[in-house]
Amino acid sequence: MSDVELRKLKKSFGKVDVIHGVDLSIKSGEFAVFVGPSGCGKSTLLRLVAGLEEASGGEILIGDRDVTNVEAAERGIAMVFQSYALYPHMSVGENMGFGLRMTGTDKAVIQERVEKAAQILHLDQLLERKPKQLSGGQRQRVAIGRAIVREPQVFLFDEPLSNLDAELRVRMRLEIAKLHNDLGATMIYVTHDQVEAMTLADKIVVLRSGKIEQVGAPLELYNNPDNSFVGGFIGSPK
Ligand code: ADP
Ligand code: MG
Repeated sequence: MSDVELRKLKKSFGKVDVIHGVDLSIKSGEFAVFVGPSGCGKSTLLRLVAGLEEASGGEILIGDRDVTNVEAAERGIAMVFQSYALYPHMSVGENMGFGLRMTGTDKAVIQERVEKAAQILHLDQLLERKPKQLSGGQRQRVAIGRAIVREPQVFLFDEPLSNLDAELRVRMRLEIAKLHNDLGATMIYVTHDQVEAMTLADKIVVLRSGKIEQVGAPLELYNNPDNSFVGGFIGSPK
């Protein structure tokens, strides 16, 4: 079963073609990582899946449902960004529950989900704090918590750790791997960090100028890159 499927997906901004007909299948529960140079279309591809950009052609299926023309909020996905603006006047718990409150979810359900997410992310002692009383890593965890409480079928991450220092990045990478393990959800993760890609991915998707250059498991790409572009990106010795 394929959880996310892209068929001949295209995106242009004005006359500029940015995504040139991408075909891709991501299985249920799979951790897919998009890598590629700056400007190759990683964020655009993710935003298309999220419904934050409208496709110029092709189809997007999530869990066998054609969502190409479905609104973002109805797609069963949640996205975590690099810059994770939290509401400064709200507590950690309120920040995590805010999206659900907007959808009119029952208060008791929100509280239950926030507490559960806080436990997973080790934020349970910090629910009353304001964002400014948190470290960078804790804030990023709140941003992930906001996604978890929505119980999405698919999580999308756009370079979520690139604003963190090196040590914290390693810790958060391990936490994201654990989260994937615990939730069993499908995840699509954009990074330009080769170590993140190699350690997190079930499947790496190498993008170049809006096209897929190669798709494979980390070791497959490492041992058998199709060309020097892929090899260079994966850090392959070949
Ligand atoms: P990446 O995330 O891989 O760095 P992006 O998906 O952000 O790349 O961008 C891919 C290309 O699309 C870039 O050339 C970028 O300038 C262009 N682009 C992205 N968003 C827009 C937009 N809203 N309007 C016009 N061009 C855009
Ligand atoms: Mg980007």
